[in-house]
Amino acid sequence: MDFRVIKAEKITETVKELLMDCNYNIGSDITNALEKAKETEKSEVGRQVLCQLIENNKIAHDEQVPLCQDTGMVVLFVQYGDKVVIDGGSFKNAVTEGVRQAYKEGYLRKSVVNDPVFDRINTRDNTPAIIHTEIVPGEKIVITAGGKGFGSENMSAIKMLTPSYGAEGVIDFVLDTVRKAGPNPCPPMVVGVGIGGTFEKAAQLAKKATFRSIETSNPDPRYAEMEQQLLDRINKMGFGPAGLGGTTTALGVNIETYPTHIAGMPVAVNICCHAARHKTAAI
Ligand code: SF4
Repeated sequence: MDFRVIKAEKITETVKELLMDCNYNIGSDITNALEKAKETEKSEVGRQVLCQLIENNKIAHDEQVPLCQDTGMVVLFVQYGDKVVIDGGSFKNAVTEGVRQAYKEGYLRKSVVNDPVFDRINTRDNTPAIIHTEIVPGEKIVITAGGKGFGSENMSAIKMLTPSYGAEGVIDFVLDTVRKAGPNPCPPMVVGVGIGGTFEKAAQLAKKATFRSIETSNPDPRYAEMEQQLLDRINKMGFGPAGLGGTTTALGVNIETYPTHIAGMPVAVNICCHAARHKTAAI
Protein backbone atom coordinates (compact mmCIF):
# COMPACT_ATOMS: atom_id res chain seq x y z
CA MET A 1 0.00 0.00 0.00
CA ASP A 2 1.29 3.48 -0.88
CA PHE A 3 1.50 6.11 1.80
CA ARG A 4 2.18 9.81 1.54
CA VAL A 5 4.76 11.22 3.93
CA ILE A 6 4.08 14.63 5.44
CA LYS A 7 6.72 16.31 7.55
CA ALA A 8 5.72 17.28 11.08
CA GLU A 9 7.17 20.75 10.47
CA LYS A 10 4.69 21.26 7.62
CA ILE A 11 1.81 20.62 10.01
CA THR A 12 3.30 23.01 12.57
CA GLU A 13 3.77 25.71 9.96
CA THR A 14 0.22 25.24 8.60
CA VAL A 15 -1.40 25.45 12.05
CA LYS A 16 0.64 28.54 12.88
CA GLU A 17 -0.35 30.29 9.64
CA LEU A 18 -4.04 29.39 10.01
CA LEU A 19 -4.19 30.74 13.56
CA MET A 20 -2.44 34.00 12.76
CA ASP A 21 -4.53 34.39 9.62
CA CYS A 22 -7.87 33.83 11.37
CA ASN A 23 -7.01 36.24 14.19
CA TYR A 24 -6.03 39.04 11.79
CA ASN A 25 -8.35 38.48 8.83
CA ILE A 26 -12.04 37.84 9.45
CA GLY A 27 -13.73 35.64 6.81
CA SER A 28 -15.48 37.25 3.85
CA ASP A 29 -18.80 35.69 4.93
CA ILE A 30 -18.73 37.74 8.15
CA THR A 31 -17.57 40.91 6.34
CA ASN A 32 -20.37 40.55 3.78
CA ALA A 33 -22.96 39.94 6.50
CA LEU A 34 -21.80 42.99 8.49
CA GLU A 35 -21.96 45.18 5.37
CA LYS A 36 -25.45 43.91 4.59
CA ALA A 37 -26.60 44.39 8.19
CA LYS A 38 -25.32 47.98 8.11
CA GLU A 39 -27.88 48.67 5.36
CA THR A 40 -30.79 46.87 7.02
CA GLU A 41 -30.24 47.61 10.74
CA LYS A 42 -33.11 49.72 12.08
CA SER A 43 -31.34 51.22 15.09
CA GLU A 44 -29.05 54.24 14.63
CA VAL A 45 -26.79 53.06 17.49
CA GLY A 46 -26.85 49.56 15.99
CA ARG A 47 -25.66 50.93 12.64
CA GLN A 48 -22.86 52.83 14.38
CA VAL A 49 -21.72 49.64 16.14
CA LEU A 50 -21.76 47.71 12.87
CA CYS A 51 -19.63 50.45 11.24
CA GLN A 52 -17.18 50.21 14.14
CA LEU A 53 -16.96 46.43 13.76
CA ILE A 54 -16.30 46.78 10.03
CA GLU A 55 -13.64 49.41 10.73
CA ASN A 56 -12.12 47.27 13.49
CA ASN A 57 -11.84 44.29 11.15
CA LYS A 58 -10.27 46.47 8.45
CA ILE A 59 -7.64 47.82 10.87
CA ALA A 60 -6.86 44.28 12.05
CA HIS A 61 -6.39 43.21 8.43
CA ASP A 62 -4.34 46.26 7.35
CA GLU A 63 -2.05 46.24 10.38
CA GLN A 64 -2.06 42.46 10.87
CA VAL A 65 -3.09 42.67 14.51
CA PRO A 66 -5.72 40.58 16.35
CA LEU A 67 -9.27 41.69 15.67
CA CYS A 68 -10.23 41.03 19.30
CA GLN A 69 -8.21 41.02 22.52
CA ASP A 70 -9.67 37.59 23.37
CA THR A 71 -7.79 35.44 20.87
CA GLY A 72 -9.52 32.38 22.24
CA MET A 73 -8.82 28.75 22.94
CA VAL A 74 -7.74 26.92 19.81
CA VAL A 75 -10.14 24.40 18.26
CA LEU A 76 -9.25 22.30 15.23
CA PHE A 77 -11.36 20.07 13.02
CA VAL A 78 -9.05 17.72 11.17
CA GLN A 79 -9.79 15.37 8.29
CA TYR A 80 -6.89 12.99 8.43
CA GLY A 81 -6.29 10.92 5.29
CA ASP A 82 -5.74 7.25 6.06
CA LYS A 83 -2.79 7.10 3.64
CA VAL A 84 -0.78 9.78 5.45
CA VAL A 85 2.31 9.05 7.51
CA ILE A 86 3.93 11.80 9.57
CA ASP A 87 7.69 12.09 9.53
CA GLY A 88 9.56 13.77 12.36
CA GLY A 89 7.09 13.65 15.26
CA SER A 90 3.51 13.00 16.26
CA PHE A 91 0.54 14.87 14.80
CA LYS A 92 -0.49 16.14 18.22
CA ASN A 93 2.97 17.51 19.03
CA ALA A 94 3.18 19.16 15.61
CA VAL A 95 -0.17 20.89 16.17
CA THR A 96 0.78 21.95 19.69
CA GLU A 97 3.99 23.50 18.40
CA GLY A 98 2.01 25.37 15.73
CA VAL A 99 -0.28 26.83 18.41
CA ARG A 100 2.70 27.78 20.55
CA GLN A 101 4.49 29.55 17.69
CA ALA A 102 1.35 31.36 16.47
CA TYR A 103 0.48 32.77 19.87
CA LYS A 104 4.07 33.77 20.65
CA GLU A 105 5.17 35.17 17.31
CA GLY A 106 1.74 36.57 16.44
CA TYR A 107 1.38 38.43 19.78
CA LEU A 108 -1.92 36.69 20.46
CA ARG A 109 -3.21 36.68 24.03
CA LYS A 110 -2.48 33.50 25.94
CA SER A 111 -5.81 32.54 27.47
CA VAL A 112 -5.50 28.89 28.54
CA VAL A 113 -5.08 27.65 32.12
CA ASN A 114 -3.65 24.24 33.01
CA ASP A 115 -6.41 23.08 35.37
CA PRO A 116 -10.08 24.09 35.20
CA VAL A 117 -10.90 24.22 38.93
CA PHE A 118 -7.96 24.38 41.31
CA ASP A 119 -4.61 25.55 39.90
CA ARG A 120 -5.80 27.72 37.00
CA ILE A 121 -2.21 28.58 36.05
CA ASN A 122 -1.77 30.12 32.60
CA THR A 123 0.10 27.70 30.32
CA ARG A 124 1.72 30.81 28.76
CA ASP A 125 1.60 29.55 25.19
CA ASN A 126 -2.16 28.97 24.73
CA THR A 127 -1.70 25.20 24.59
CA PRO A 128 -3.21 22.67 24.60
CA ALA A 129 -5.66 22.91 21.70
CA ILE A 130 -8.91 21.00 21.29
CA ILE A 131 -8.40 18.65 18.33
CA HIS A 132 -11.35 16.89 16.67
CA THR A 133 -9.99 14.30 14.25
CA GLU A 134 -11.88 12.35 11.62
CA ILE A 135 -10.06 9.61 9.70
CA VAL A 136 -11.05 9.84 6.03
CA PRO A 137 -9.93 7.98 2.90
CA GLY A 138 -7.07 9.68 1.05
CA GLU A 139 -3.62 11.14 1.29
CA LYS A 140 -4.35 14.66 2.52
CA ILE A 141 -4.77 16.34 5.85
CA VAL A 142 -7.38 19.10 5.87
CA ILE A 143 -7.25 21.36 8.91
CA THR A 144 -9.82 23.95 9.94
CA ALA A 145 -8.50 25.98 12.85
CA GLY A 146 -10.05 28.73 14.92
CA GLY A 147 -9.75 30.63 18.17
CA LYS A 148 -12.89 30.50 20.31
CA GLY A 149 -13.57 33.41 22.62
CA PHE A 150 -15.23 32.55 25.88
CA GLY A 151 -17.58 35.53 26.18
CA SER A 152 -19.74 33.62 23.72
CA GLU A 153 -18.60 30.09 24.61
CA ASN A 154 -19.92 30.61 28.15
CA MET A 155 -23.40 31.32 26.77
CA SER A 156 -23.68 27.92 25.06
CA ALA A 157 -25.93 25.10 26.25
CA ILE A 158 -26.94 21.51 25.63
CA LYS A 159 -30.18 19.65 26.29
CA MET A 160 -31.11 16.00 25.95
CA LEU A 161 -34.53 16.39 24.36
CA THR A 162 -36.69 13.33 23.76
CA PRO A 163 -38.14 12.74 20.26
CA SER A 164 -41.64 13.88 21.24
CA TYR A 165 -40.35 17.47 21.48
CA GLY A 166 -40.02 17.47 17.67
CA ALA A 167 -38.86 20.41 15.57
CA GLU A 168 -40.73 22.88 17.79
CA GLY A 169 -38.82 21.64 20.83
CA VAL A 170 -35.52 22.18 19.03
CA ILE A 171 -36.51 25.70 17.98
CA ASP A 172 -37.72 26.58 21.49
CA PHE A 173 -34.46 25.41 23.06
CA VAL A 174 -32.29 27.35 20.60
CA LEU A 175 -34.33 30.53 21.07
CA ASP A 176 -34.35 30.08 24.84
CA THR A 177 -30.55 29.72 24.88
CA VAL A 178 -30.05 32.85 22.77
CA ARG A 179 -32.56 34.78 24.88
CA LYS A 180 -30.76 33.83 28.10
CA ALA A 181 -27.43 34.82 26.52
CA GLY A 182 -28.86 38.28 25.85
CA PRO A 183 -26.20 40.92 25.19
CA ASN A 184 -23.34 38.88 26.72
CA PRO A 185 -21.88 36.99 23.71
CA CYS A 186 -20.82 40.15 21.81
CA PRO A 187 -23.61 40.18 19.21
CA PRO A 188 -24.18 40.08 16.32
CA MET A 189 -23.47 36.40 16.81
CA VAL A 190 -23.20 33.22 14.79
CA VAL A 191 -25.33 30.47 16.31
CA GLY A 192 -24.14 26.90 15.81
CA VAL A 193 -26.70 24.17 16.45
CA GLY A 194 -25.85 20.48 16.70
CA ILE A 195 -28.72 18.00 16.63
CA GLY A 196 -28.45 14.24 17.07
CA GLY A 197 -25.73 11.76 17.97
CA THR A 198 -24.95 11.44 21.66
CA PHE A 199 -24.39 14.06 24.36
CA GLU A 200 -20.83 14.86 23.27
CA LYS A 201 -21.49 14.46 19.55
CA ALA A 202 -24.21 17.12 19.63
CA ALA A 203 -21.80 19.58 21.28
CA GLN A 204 -19.12 18.82 18.71
CA LEU A 205 -21.62 19.29 15.86
CA ALA A 206 -22.66 22.65 17.30
CA LYS A 207 -19.03 23.80 17.32
CA LYS A 208 -18.53 22.48 13.79
CA ALA A 209 -21.60 24.47 12.74
CA THR A 210 -19.99 27.72 13.92
CA PHE A 211 -16.97 26.89 11.73
CA ARG A 212 -19.12 26.64 8.59
CA SER A 213 -19.49 29.70 6.36
CA ILE A 214 -22.69 31.59 7.12
CA GLU A 215 -23.14 31.94 3.36
CA THR A 216 -23.96 28.22 3.19
CA SER A 217 -27.13 26.40 4.24
CA ASN A 218 -27.73 22.91 5.56
CA PRO A 219 -28.09 20.65 2.47
CA ASP A 220 -31.39 19.25 3.80
CA PRO A 221 -34.10 21.83 2.91
CA ARG A 222 -35.97 21.13 6.17
CA TYR A 223 -32.95 22.14 8.25
CA ALA A 224 -32.12 25.01 5.88
CA GLU A 225 -35.63 26.32 6.52
CA MET A 226 -35.11 25.89 10.28
CA GLU A 227 -31.84 27.88 10.04
CA GLN A 228 -33.65 30.75 8.33
CA GLN A 229 -36.58 30.65 10.73
CA LEU A 230 -34.24 30.73 13.73
CA LEU A 231 -32.26 33.62 12.27
CA ASP A 232 -35.42 35.65 11.66
CA ARG A 233 -36.77 34.99 15.15
CA ILE A 234 -33.44 35.73 16.86
CA ASN A 235 -33.22 39.04 15.02
CA LYS A 236 -36.65 39.96 16.33
CA MET A 237 -35.39 39.64 19.94
CA GLY A 238 -33.98 43.16 19.83
CA PHE A 239 -30.57 42.70 21.50
CA GLY A 240 -28.85 44.18 18.45
CA PRO A 241 -25.17 44.94 17.75
CA ALA A 242 -23.10 44.94 20.98
CA GLY A 243 -26.37 44.29 22.84
CA LEU A 244 -27.32 47.98 22.57
CA GLY A 245 -30.58 47.28 20.79
CA GLY A 246 -31.44 46.72 17.15
CA THR A 247 -32.50 44.26 14.52
CA THR A 248 -29.13 42.53 14.01
CA THR A 249 -28.63 40.11 16.90
CA ALA A 250 -27.32 37.25 14.75
CA LEU A 251 -25.53 37.15 11.41
CA GLY A 252 -26.21 33.50 10.79
CA VAL A 253 -27.57 30.24 12.20
CA ASN A 254 -25.92 27.01 11.07
CA ILE A 255 -27.29 23.56 11.88
CA GLU A 256 -25.34 20.31 11.70
CA THR A 257 -27.01 16.95 12.30
CA TYR A 258 -26.14 13.30 12.88
CA PRO A 259 -28.22 10.11 13.27
CA THR A 260 -29.23 9.41 16.85
CA HIS A 261 -30.78 6.80 19.18
CA ILE A 262 -34.51 5.92 18.95
CA ALA A 263 -35.02 7.32 22.47
CA GLY A 264 -33.21 10.63 22.09
CA MET A 265 -32.81 13.97 20.32
CA PRO A 266 -29.81 15.79 21.80
CA VAL A 267 -29.56 19.48 20.90
CA ALA A 268 -26.53 21.68 21.54
CA VAL A 269 -26.26 25.40 20.93
CA ASN A 270 -22.78 26.86 20.57
CA ILE A 271 -22.83 30.61 20.41
CA CYS A 272 -20.05 32.44 18.61
CA CYS A 273 -19.56 36.21 18.63
CA HIS A 274 -19.03 38.40 15.56
CA ALA A 275 -15.32 37.48 15.84
CA ALA A 276 -16.12 34.14 14.20
CA ARG A 277 -12.55 33.15 13.39
CA HIS A 278 -11.72 30.05 11.41
CA LYS A 279 -9.54 29.22 8.40
CA THR A 280 -8.98 26.02 6.45
CA ALA A 281 -5.95 24.56 4.67
CA ALA A 282 -5.25 21.27 2.96
CA ILE A 283 -1.81 19.69 3.16
S1 SF4 B 1 -16.89 37.01 22.86
FE1 SF4 B 1 -15.82 37.30 20.91
S2 SF4 B 1 -15.86 39.51 20.45
FE2 SF4 B 1 -16.41 39.19 22.61
S3 SF4 B 1 -14.46 39.47 23.71
FE3 SF4 B 1 -14.70 37.25 23.32
S4 SF4 B 1 -13.70 36.86 21.35
FE4 SF4 B 1 -13.97 39.06 21.52
